[in-house]
Amino acid sequence: MTQARPLSREALKAALAWMVELGADEILAEAPQDRYAEALRAPPRLKTGAPPPAAQPPARPMARPAPAPAPAAPVQPDPQAVAAASLAAAARAAPDLDALKALLEDFQHPLRANARRSVFEDGLRGARLMVVGEAPGADEDRLGKPFVGRSGQLLDKMLAAIGLDRSKSDPKEAFYLGNILPFRPPGNRTPSLAEVEVFRPALERQIALAKPEILLLAGGTPTKALLRTETGIMRLRGTWSLVRVEGREIPALPLFHPAFLLRAPAMKALAWRDLLSLRRRLDGG
Ligand code: URA
Repeated sequence: MTQARPLSREALKAALAWMVELGADEILAEAPQDRYAEALRAPPRLKTGAPPPAAQPPARPMARPAPAPAPAAPVQPDPQAVAAASLAAAARAAPDLDALKALLEDFQHPLRANARRSVFEDGLRGARLMVVGEAPGADEDRLGKPFVGRSGQLLDKMLAAIGLDRSKSDPKEAFYLGNILPFRPPGNRTPSLAEVEVFRPALERQIALAKPEILLLAGGTPTKALLRTETGIMRLRGTWSLVRVEGREIPALPLFHPAFLLRAPAMKALAWRDLLSLRRRLDGG
């Protein structure tokens, strides 16, 4: 077997730069952990549903009583599906926002492996406006609040331009914030549909308990999840829809995600139009 040669200093620097580019930009533990090796060691997860068909015994030349079929192995429920169902049930029963927050803090999910903490809310509970984002990024993961990094600062400026400030105590002047996912996905990747489905009931409960009059959906992920649509943000931004949560219909406005506006500043003109539409709606128009 050939022996692996130690990497040169330049190769190691390039590998590190590549890791940072992929989003692995923080030290979470003293020693590296090989998650691929862990996954290989873990027992395979069984999917719920019908078990695979049993192999047919080879044909026998003489008619003999067929051997009794081996008893089917019991179907093991997927632990993640079970956890998701129990989170949904517990979230629906959460009596208040603190209980819901505590529930998410304790919830075991694979995304926790790379996240420091769960990120639940910021701003004023009970504000007329609630902003729903996608998931925490690196700054949010460090500080434990949604939208506190660069895109959050842009969001604050955008909403300040129409007279809103998350730190105010008047529900008419403040806003409240939450995300679909409470845990930072590795490398800030877009959450998968499965991840969104796990956490959507908790977000819906958060909305029901915070009782906003209006929702601002920041980007494609919350727009698709809450409007239950496949249509993208490019088509839906600026168009008012209704989000149904626990029997209530809440007017919701999809807006370009501020992180997208940082990359595509020319789109700010459209976002400004949408903010003016939001202001009109808050003013009763
Ligand atoms: N982007 C989001 O969607 N949410 C945050 O909290 C931060 C960035």
